[in-house]
Amino acid sequence: MASDFIASKISIKELSKRAGEVRTNLSISDDVTLDIINLLEFDIVRLIPNFRLLVMPDSEMLSDDGHFQEAYATFDPPRIVVANSIYIAANESEPHARMVLAHELGHLMLHNGRIVREKAHNLATEAKKRGAYGPPLHNLKSRTGESQASKFAAFLLAPTNACVSLTSANEIAEKFQISLRSAEIRFTETDPLRRRLSGQRRKLPSAVLAFMREQEVRNRFKFKSLPEDHRRA
Ligand SMILES: [Zn+2]
Repeated sequence: MASDFIASKISIKELSKRAGEVRTNLSISDDVTLDIINLLEFDIVRLIPNFRLLVMPDSEMLSDDGHFQEAYATFDPPRIVVANSIYIAANESEPHARMVLAHELGHLMLHNGRIVREKAHNLATEAKKRGAYGPPLHNLKSRTGESQASKFAAFLLAPTNACVSLTSANEIAEKFQISLRSAEIRFTETDPLRRRLSGQRRKLPSAVLAFMREQEVRNRFKFKSLPEDHRRA
């Protein structure tokens, strides 16, 4: 999960946009469950020339101090190196493995020029170096590329546009094959937009909508408050 370096700031909006561009540029619509293995083995070379996904035996994915690395990314040449067990799990649509690979892709799309080795213990080591009174871990983490890559991964796997049409975290988890925990976060993040969209539709009783539509046709003007989908109806 958390290797750590201080990356330049990228807004949430920008992260969402960058993740969205991957789907758009590869003509993968937002409501499609992303096949992350297929994406990395075939499609992504259209965006990252010379990219390759390398699968290594788990025994060769140990860091210098013996910690298991699920995956890591390199930029020159562009590679995601993934442990065999994670690769197999991602092929079987296991949520955590899917997220690991999407996270590494996030590093490649966002942090070009750095080698990112994932070391789960790094944050703790960093905190130790800063002394007991250093900044709290979650603050430290929020400034690093790690949270950016994880956000990117969540946006890529479960796009906002598609999340708003789903009515629970469970539905999001099921539809996009992400963990329930990740789905809960995406549900909460997209809830204001979901409420706004459903509120617009609910606000006006159908008799009023019908009246407005009739008036529009008769008088050839548009009510600002008449939802577009009622116009076509
Ligand atoms: Zn990472």
